[in-house]
Amino acid sequence: MRIVVQKYGGSSVATPERIKNVAQRVKRKVDEGYKVLVVVSAMGKTTDNLIKLAREVSPKPDTRELDMLLATGEQISAALLAMALKDLGVRAKSFNAFQVRIRTTEEHTAARIVDIDDGVIFENLKDHDVLVVTGFQGVNEKGDLTTLGRGGSDTTAVALAAKLKVPCEIYSDVDGIYTCDPRIHPNAKKLKYITYDEALELTALGAKVLHSRSVEIAKKYNIPIYCASSFNEEEGTLVVERLPEWLEEPVVTGATISHGQIKVTVSYLPKDANLLTAIFNEVAKRLVNIDMISLVPSNGDLFLSFTILEDHREDLEKALQEALKGVEGWKSSYQGGFAKLSIVGVGMRTSPGVAARFFEALKRVGITPELVTTSEIKISCLVPEEKAEEALKEVIKEFEL
Ligand code: ADP
Ligand code: ASP
Ligand code: MG
Repeated sequence: MRIVVQKYGGSSVATPERIKNVAQRVKRKVDEGYKVLVVVSAMGKTTDNLIKLAREVSPKPDTRELDMLLATGEQISAALLAMALKDLGVRAKSFNAFQVRIRTTEEHTAARIVDIDDGVIFENLKDHDVLVVTGFQGVNEKGDLTTLGRGGSDTTAVALAAKLKVPCEIYSDVDGIYTCDPRIHPNAKKLKYITYDEALELTALGAKVLHSRSVEIAKKYNIPIYCASSFNEEEGTLVVERLPEWLEEPVVTGATISHGQIKVTVSYLPKDANLLTAIFNEVAKRLVNIDMISLVPSNGDLFLSFTILEDHREDLEKALQEALKGVEGWKSSYQGGFAKLSIVGVGMRTSPGVAARFFEALKRVGITPELVTTSEIKISCLVPEEKAEEALKEVIKEFEL
């Protein structure tokens, strides 16, 4: 039995016409002899609208109830697509996370998939050619519905592909992964291949073309992901372990911006490793992601700086209060209006001088870096929000992206 997982995102199922278009595409795959597991997102802006609706009722909605609400979006598209497929004579059936038993961790709005029951899938594939599965959702130990974080349908698709050891195709409104967001930079180049490591960095650093966790799973189980458009037949991008040997490795493969960053500085901390551990533990408990950490000692005290996303400010404040209970003299300050600009490329491992060129490009647009972090294959720099796009343009020119 040849099986493939296909995922269609929100824009691909935004209207009844587009759902019918997706049904045609899925049918073609069935006609080629495949059994298809289709993972769908909610139609268009449905998830955004549901979040807005929740906030009209409650300013900080209870997250269990929020997941209960958000999970309805994907159920709508799954049912509609199954109807459209049946009208084309395809033996199709829709499922929600509860029915295929997509088990996740506890955390509402940020759950991680633990396992999927392939028994239900194989049982249903006996007399169906297409199973349409709701993306983005799961069920936790308590039997409550959870969601996987914004953009999480990609992760449902790759997790299904990993469970069944089959390839995964992800269709959206762009025909592949580009050197940078093609909507903002129309001259961006489409990549034929990108490595898991690069895609992981790019998506974690703001490129929303794939859910970062989906790339993590693909890498772990070595599942190739093919990204392409649901609107045309253009050749897309293959996410793989290693670039083919004939392909020359570019020094920088891609660049991205993550908006809405706040720089946090905690001043006058006593030099005490236990305190640092306490801070990072409290932060982790509240699921606040911190990045670009810098520690500067001064006159026997420590100055700790890092970045967080705007949405996490309240939780961070609570974490600091808790971790530093009883400590005297410390102060925290928050400075908003930053973006994180990053370049990524496996070629950096072997090409010296990338950082120099990166900072030179930033200098040309009058930016002195605030905070910098690097890994073997990326450099990120905190820049003023209002200069971020201009800086990215300069970086694109420098590295011919
Ligand atoms: P879907 O709703 O199908 O999941 P998304 O909107 O989540 O689609 O992801 C596709 C979008 O990702 C594109 O419209 C594009 O603007 C954005 N994007 C950001 N960075 C990149 C990139 N490097 N390559 C391609 N698309 C990108
Ligand atoms: N519908 C969800 C969202 O908008 C999941 C997804 O699109 O992947 O975040
Ligand atoms: Mg998406």
